[in-house]
Amino acid sequence: MFSCVFCEENTVYTSYLCSSCRALKHIKLTYKQRFNEVINNVLVRTPEKQEYKIKDEIKKDIEKCQYSLRSATKKA
Ligand SMILES: [Zn+2]
Repeated sequence: MFSCVFCEENTVYTSYLCSSCRALKHIKLTYKQRFNEVINNVLVRTPEKQEYKIKDEIKKDIEKCQYSLRSATKKA
């Protein structure tokens, strides 16, 4: 019986990571550097600035999606 090496809270028996941290690792592997950017830009801030940054980060993603959609529509 050991503690999860990432959160150091949950108990693990046969692996290094608990299921919650394993899910986070999967997201990290999927989004790579983008995961780090969002964590650093959003979470490492005061609560008021977090709210602003969340909206700002989401806005970037929405703009990227809209651009992709427009490009895809033009090609079709
Ligand atoms: Zn954990």
